[in-house]
Amino acid sequence: MSLSFSSNPRQDRASVADRAAILANPGFGDHFSDHMVLAKWSQDEGWHDAEVTAFGPIQMSPAAAVLHYAQEIFEGMKAYRHADGSVWTFRPEANAARFARSAKRLALPVLPEEDFVDSLKALVQTDIDWVPEAADGAETSLYLRPFMFASEAFLGVRPSKEVTYCVIASPAGSYFPGGVKPVSLWISNDYARAGEGGTGAAKCGGNYASSLAGQLEGIAAGCDQAVFLDSSTHTYIEELGGMNLFFVYKDGRIVTPELTGTILEGVTRSSILELAKDLGLEPQERRIPIQEWKDGAESGEITEIFACGTAAVITPVGELKWDGGSCDHRVEGHRDEIAMKIRKTLLDIQYGRTEDTHGWMTRLA
Ligand SMILES: *Cc1c(COP(=O)(O)O)cnc(C)c1O
Repeated sequence: MSLSFSSNPRQDRASVADRAAILANPGFGDHFSDHMVLAKWSQDEGWHDAEVTAFGPIQMSPAAAVLHYAQEIFEGMKAYRHADGSVWTFRPEANAARFARSAKRLALPVLPEEDFVDSLKALVQTDIDWVPEAADGAETSLYLRPFMFASEAFLGVRPSKEVTYCVIASPAGSYFPGGVKPVSLWISNDYARAGEGGTGAAKCGGNYASSLAGQLEGIAAGCDQAVFLDSSTHTYIEELGGMNLFFVYKDGRIVTPELTGTILEGVTRSSILELAKDLGLEPQERRIPIQEWKDGAESGEITEIFACGTAAVITPVGELKWDGGSCDHRVEGHRDEIAMKIRKTLLDIQYGRTEDTHGWMTRLA
């Protein structure tokens, strides 16, 4: 039986003026809508007490297992306003399926796909005024963050018998307010984000915690972000802390590291693999040695490199730096033509500006 989300709307919603001020300049992850979804799971009762309620602090014991052993997973998606006022999201069944895979890896209970999608509908229908208006070429959205954590007060080490599911929503502006700008990347020598048999393929907070030191190392070296290599041989390209990577070759191949268990399977990544075929490119998933990046940049075989994920959609990559060297595939007059074409195609589908031939969009409100 599917969960039903009871509605407990608050009386003290943000005023029209306060909300308008936030939506005029939302940034990313700084502001939150009026409500959130909460649901509980226990070993005895399964999923229960699902509701939409006021956004606010969550009471928990200092002994809650998540605070000690990091039994937590999350998702990230967006609600997009279309020109007719309706609100949609992109491939939520893919996020639901990934949330279920992450849950299994972290020994958390699975939330059925239907309940996952219903929770998004319940929140967005309540807070529909928080979804930014459609505008020509707009990239604003209401970012949705579903997550689940071990809430049992217990310090022994075993899967929690009590779990909390929550969805919060945060209005998001354009990822690149000043226009799309390439990021520089740092190859971390000392740190990996994931190891064989570990949690790299699950979307869990722990992976992010382990990527931060490498990220700081990159920033200290003057780069925007770190790129992680496989932790066993330090030979193959994996991904960034929160984005997958693609390489475009002169001959029309578009290559992304194959899923070896240590890479997060991005919904954007799989959508780009599909769209590439529509654009007459030849998508490939395989292991890519880091040397191939350096050589391809030097020889001109690699013409474009980009990172992808829900938040930024597609971000062109520029310079690559490491301890003792650097390379850059961009030559005079470089344009990220394919990256920007795929980016526009994805955005046009998400904002309903072109026909959704793949059946990727789901209406939320
Ligand atoms: C979320 C995430 C991505 C991007 O996934 P999308 O589904 O495309 O948003 C890539 N890598 C990591 C490590 C992630 O956590």
